[in-house]
Order: sequence, then structure tokens, then C-alpha cells
Amino acid sequence: MQLVFEKSIEDQSAVNLPDIDVPQTPAREAIPKELLADEPPPLPELSEREITRHFTQLAQRMMSVDANFYPLGSCTMKYNPKINEWAANLEGFASLHPYQPEDDLQGAMELLYHLRKFLEEIAGLPEVCLQPAAGAQGEMTSIKIIHAYFKDRNDPRDHILIPDSAHGTNPASCALCGQQVTVVKSTPQGLVDMKDLAEKVNEKAAALMITNPNTLGLFDKNIVQITRILHDHGAQLYLDGANMNAIVGQVRPGDFGVDVMHFNLHKTFSTPHGCGGPGAGPIAVAEHLAPYLPIPQVNLADGKFFWDFNRPKSIGKVRTFYGQFAVLVRAYTYIRSLGPQGLKNISDKAVLAANYLAKELQTHYTLPYPLPCTHEFVISADRQKAKGVRALDIAKRLIDFGIHPPTMYFPAIVPECIMIEPTETETLATLNYFVEVMKKIADEATTEPDMVQHAPCTTPVRRVDEVKAAREPNLRWKNEKY
Ligand SMILES: *Cc1c(COP(=O)(O)O)cnc(C)c1O
Repeated sequence: MQLVFEKSIEDQSAVNLPDIDVPQTPAREAIPKELLADEPPPLPELSEREITRHFTQLAQRMMSVDANFYPLGSCTMKYNPKINEWAANLEGFASLHPYQPEDDLQGAMELLYHLRKFLEEIAGLPEVCLQPAAGAQGEMTSIKIIHAYFKDRNDPRDHILIPDSAHGTNPASCALCGQQVTVVKSTPQGLVDMKDLAEKVNEKAAALMITNPNTLGLFDKNIVQITRILHDHGAQLYLDGANMNAIVGQVRPGDFGVDVMHFNLHKTFSTPHGCGGPGAGPIAVAEHLAPYLPIPQVNLADGKFFWDFNRPKSIGKVRTFYGQFAVLVRAYTYIRSLGPQGLKNISDKAVLAANYLAKELQTHYTLPYPLPCTHEFVISADRQKAKGVRALDIAKRLIDFGIHPPTMYFPAIVPECIMIEPTETETLATLNYFVEVMKKIADEATTEPDMVQHAPCTTPVRRVDEVKAAREPNLRWKNEKY
């Protein structure tokens, strides 16, 4: 496919300007010399029809949730019901400006207030803040809150415990907040090693950041005991809620002792995400942490919604204005359109789909942990590796079959890890197609390893050198003309 620059035809344009009816002054005379560029900018010249075709054709080369099965573990790439888009694009929401007075914003604030209440109910915790813009920012906000809480009690603590299966954002958020990280080991069964936890927790530990179910797709059945150990040492339990898709409507994190957690609304509650945005990472806190929440909070008094800045111990603001409003509208719409039974249905079906896939795939791939799993699972391509085909090659080969690659090489504790999360929104036919393709690739690893190592074979761009692209980024288009 040609670049848009290569399609350029001199003097083509997407707009027809009327003939000029005022005296003309060339730009070189009207603009001070020091502000003028040496050359005109290298812009392609195309008609509107050519521009439309160019970008439509490019878009068709992308994989997306709407066009492809997307079993990207840990990311919950579920179908985004189009009613969410309708709601987010309603004139009354889309055209608001955050500087408008409260009286103008009552409808939007009502939505935020009720979303807050829904998430408080789902979390089983008394207060939610909608401000953080992503899961990772929810982590950072929560660590700051925990820090403020201990500082207030004159009980400075310097480290946070994190299991070795955790997502990379967990230690990154700690580092950003100046906290040391102590890694807690996993057992061969993939759960928190209780002995290791007991040895590492002490009066200097601020919190344990746990993902439950964890990134191996396993629900830690010792969670109540884990909570007790932490609380006995005065430490807090932080839940990374990225895997809420497995438990939404089944169990409330507050009920198993969580002190603070984040939601990834873009995962569990269906906003399209990827390529860096957009997202929303509201946090939910227990009573004792609520005084430290960011301001402002959306509140209700005398039948009127208002921005509540009255929180003297607040850590401040973590996001401009009130958070990612359009994502919050989508999450609200999703929750309202499903209702309580519908939310429970999400986790029922997501867990069923993952267990079905895991059971079907275990004939051809190694399952490092015994079933049942929750909403996702990991397989190891160690048998294929022995024939020279790595997890990366298998992931790339899936592209030839119209399937987005799963998450790979994470968690790092599983060699040749492939992490699969089908979500609740796929049909049995799609799941069966995936199984069929995965088995075919496992066979190819024996019969045609060389081909799999060079996959994808049918795409416009074949295997790319990912290291080179990251180390020597070259985003500049060059030819003689420009
Ligand atoms: C996605 C994810 C995060 C980070 O959330 P973002 O919204 O991408 O910032 C943290 N932990 C786990 C387990 C995740 O899957």
C-alpha cells in the first residue's frame, strides 16, 4: 500500500475555496521573516475521495474487537455495546464544558453520582472516587492515599508487598510514589505463598497489592487469611481490580477485607480501549481511607448535585476536572442496560468460556496450573519451544487466521507463557474456531516449524523487528522531494 505522501498529486485539494475578493498579500510579505519556514510543510495533496479511501483501507488492515476475536489476556477485550456510544455521544453530554456552572451540569452530575453509587455497591466499599484516568493511575492514587493515612497516624511505612505474578504497573506505581517493593513468591499452585508472606510482612509494610483472581487466572482461596495477616500488622490490602470480570456480581471485594481497590472501567465495563486509551480507573475505599480521597467529590444535598471540595485531608487532585467523563457515561450505560442479574451473567459466562478453552487446548499445550481457572488462563508453549517454535511465533501465526494474538511472556513466572482471555461475549462457534486454529498451529510447529517462525505469512507487513522499532524509532517520512 502506498503512503499518503506517495499518492499526493500536485494541486489536488479536498476543499474548494471561493475566489478571493480582497487585495492579496503573499505570505512572505505578511508574516515576519523570522516566523517563516524555509520551505512549505510537506503536506500531501489529495481530494476528499482519495483521503477517505486511504484511511478506510488503512482501517481495514487493523485488528479490532468489532472485526476479530481478541483473546488478549488481562485486558478484557469484550464487545462494546453500541448503545454505550449512543449515550456518550448525546448532545447534552458531548457538548458540555467542565467550566460550566453546577446548575448547567445537573444531568451529568446525576449520572456521575449514580455511577459512584453503583461502583460502591459492586465493590462492597463505602466510597468511590471517579477521577483516575486508568487502572495504573488508580494504583498511584491509592498508594498516595495509603501513604497519607499512615502519615496522619504518625506511623511511617516504607514498603509495599507485591506477589511475583503481578502486573508491571503495580511495582511501577510504587516506584512513582517513592515506596520500596518487596516481592512475595507464588506457590507451585500459582497462589500467594503464605509462608513467604508471613515472613515478609512487618510493621513497616504499608500494603499488599494483590490481584484476585490473579494474572494466572486463579482465585486465591486464602484471601481471607491473607487479609487477616496484613491487618494484624496494621497494613492495608489493595486489590488490583483489573480482573473484576471474573467476579463482578459474585463477590464484593469489601466483603473479603479489601481496604482500597481500583476498577478498570474500560475492561470490566466495556469501553473500547487499547493503544494507550481512553480509560477510567475509579477507586473504592473503606471508611478509614475516605478522608484522603481526591477532590472534588460529586455529592447530593437538598435534591441538588454539587462538587464537594470540603475534604481537608484530601491528597488533592489527580486529574483535570472530574475524570474521563465519556468513559464514565459508557460504564454507566453498560451497568444500567445489564442490571444486577446481567452483571452476574458477565462473570458466569466469562469463567465458563475460559474453562472451556483451557480444557480443549490442554491436549496440545501445557497447562502449568490445574483447572478450574477463572476468566482467563495461561498455557505454556514449552512443547513447541522444544521444536524451535516460541510463544511469539504462535501469536504471530494466529494473525494469519484473523485472530488477535493473546498476551505473551506475562506473567514472567511461566516459561513461554501465552495468556488467554476470551471474555463472555464470544459465541461457541468462535471459541471452537480458536481451538481448531491453536491445534493446527501446534501441528504446524512439528510439520512446518520454519513457516511458523516467519509468520504472519498473509499480512501486508510480515514479521517486524520489534526490538529495532523500539530502539531506533524512525517516524520520519523521507524522499527526495521533502
Ligand atoms: C490492565 C491492568 C492494569 C493496568 O490498568 P490500566 O488501566 O491499563 O492502567 C493493572 N493490573 C492488571 C492486572 C491489569 O490487567
